[in-house]
Amino acid sequence: MNNWILISCLFLLQTACTPTPNASLAKNPATAPPVIEELAPAARPRNVILLIGDGMGLTQISAGLYSNGDHLNLERFPVIGLHKSYSSDNLITDSAAGATAFSAGKKTYNGAIGVDPEGKPLYTILEEADDQGLATGMVTTSTIVHATPAAFIAHEAQRTYYEPIARDFLDTDIDLFIGGGKKYFDRREDGRDLLQELRQKGYAVSSFLETNFKDLSVDYSKKLTYLTSDSDPLSVEQGRDYLTPASILACDFLDKFNSKGFFLMIEGAQIDWGGHANNSSYIITEMLDFDKAVGAVLDFAEKDGHTLVIVTADHETGGYAINPGSTRDSIIGAFTSDYHTATLIPVFAYGPGAQLFAGIYENTAIYDKMRQAFGFRGMAVRKN
Ligand code: MG
Ligand code: MG
Ligand code: ZN
Repeated sequence: MNNWILISCLFLLQTACTPTPNASLAKNPATAPPVIEELAPAARPRNVILLIGDGMGLTQISAGLYSNGDHLNLERFPVIGLHKSYSSDNLITDSAAGATAFSAGKKTYNGAIGVDPEGKPLYTILEEADDQGLATGMVTTSTIVHATPAAFIAHEAQRTYYEPIARDFLDTDIDLFIGGGKKYFDRREDGRDLLQELRQKGYAVSSFLETNFKDLSVDYSKKLTYLTSDSDPLSVEQGRDYLTPASILACDFLDKFNSKGFFLMIEGAQIDWGGHANNSSYIITEMLDFDKAVGAVLDFAEKDGHTLVIVTADHETGGYAINPGSTRDSIIGAFTSDYHTATLIPVFAYGPGAQLFAGIYENTAIYDKMRQAFGFRGMAVRKN
């Protein structure tokens, strides 16, 4: 009996004197040590594909699943984790800070594109992959200069600097990019024709004006730019249908373009826009379009055997809920906001290195884990 009292007292004493780990982490996330265990070379993927469903929280996933016979390709992932999406200046992140956390491993302020809270350019995983001799690419259903893709390649103080962001595409050797926003490249205030400059840099450049995406003929000896629209691409409900074929093309293209491996970011951008519009059917059609692309990428990864596939979102949008009275044919959505929320965000992983993505961690850890999977070592430092 006395022993029990003694042990209890010691326990109480210790808990009283030691701050709980949760409290210290919450106050100072920067002190959480990064995981730096090494993956054996044989356990590393050759390719890493990061798919981002912008604004895709658990309810967006659930609504898509119920509307699709209770199934999604997301069920094919063996490893699931959760990330904490908050930014450096707000519990509610935006897509710029959210994507910069993934692309460069730093929490930054809302609106920041590939720069830290002081505005200093960060070295992104796409830039590092390029410097390491890997092929790189991006595909999106927004403009290619929109916050999510921009944060992987551009360094600008604000997400709305679309023309400077477009110019930043010339500073890397990204091998493939597909998305909207042609006007930011060829009708600019500074008068430059960036499409012409891309051609001079060795890109095959085409757009919706010249060809339907399905009829695109690909020259595998050149880098590839395809601009799907002048401004924002259409929604699925309005007839947009390129995400899956563009994702398949991107995997095949980057695989053939460079045998060392590749980094590819694919975004389903408009799940977020459905959330902002508080529109369930917009969310669900975009969610299922994104999930179809996820399935096609998984098919590639299964056949390839050396590809790590990660699917996540930057944040949830709408405070979306599926309310009583809903059926599989008719989701009665309820929304608490027309902006983003701070709920934990799921992460799905498949392939070599997937086990790194189990657990609960900061959004910035996704960057660390991707570097770890690639076997990139030491501090990430820009070469130029
Ligand atoms: Mg390159
Ligand atoms: Mg986005
Ligand atoms: Zn948004």
